[in-house]
Amino acid sequence: RPAREPGRNLRILLAEDNAVNQRLTVRMLEKRGHSTAIVKTGRAALAALEEESFDLVLMDVQMPEMDGLEATGIIREREKATGTHIPIVALTAHAMVGDRERCLEAGMDGYVSKPIRTQELFRAIEGLLFGSEEGEEAAPEAAETGIDILDRYTTLERLNDDRDLLNEIVDLFLEDAPALLSETRDAIAHGNPEALMRAAHTLKGSVGNFSAKAAFKAALDLEVIGHEKDLTGAEEAYSILEREIERLTPALVELKAETARSES
Ligand code: MN
Repeated sequence: RPAREPGRNLRILLAEDNAVNQRLTVRMLEKRGHSTAIVKTGRAALAALEEESFDLVLMDVQMPEMDGLEATGIIREREKATGTHIPIVALTAHAMVGDRERCLEAGMDGYVSKPIRTQELFRAIEGLLFGSEEGEEAAPEAAETGIDILDRYTTLERLNDDRDLLNEIVDLFLEDAPALLSETRDAIAHGNPEALMRAAHTLKGSVGNFSAKAAFKAALDLEVIGHEKDLTGAEEAYSILEREIERLTPALVELKAETARSES
């Protein structure tokens, strides 16, 4: 396919079910001059691609209804008839081993691991569309030592020091977290591993943006419990998650306050 002109404004389809990640990604793209359409499931992504033409798709791997791998498979199958090839970049949850290989096997062209870093996102997109730095591996995450509630430095670095964006995703998280926690609790109470996996996965993705390691680990444990469909130990894991979110919440509020002070 022809190389495009770097810096061109792109029309990007974002398929992502996590509200914090949606906001984060859209704002990063907007700041780069790109416009975005958002869908929350693989099925909705297929519909959007029939409605409109896009330059590229950012495809979350784990979504309800139809996941990103299945959606990509269907897109590639459809393209056999038309001879076209839309670039698809996977958004993968770091903690799931083998994600990268599964994405490439499914027909995706590249991947970005979550939590999303501004630079890694644009390297993947521009590498595919403009042919720059293609195939270059992302720099490994800087070692985070001794920080388990949240890591301010890594969080801000990932956002290219955009404090407005930080405040925005903190607010969004604080708004969403109580409902996600109660979804998690209800799923355990009703013995519903699918719902547990989904709610815990969403929480995991959200707290990951703040490098909130302890909360991330607690949500991951519950996601795994849901995935294995054996709810033994789920209540205990839930109380750990709840405690970690209770520790994280004031830390995020404080981070916002600090940010406001440093600007005035
Ligand atoms: Mn997801």
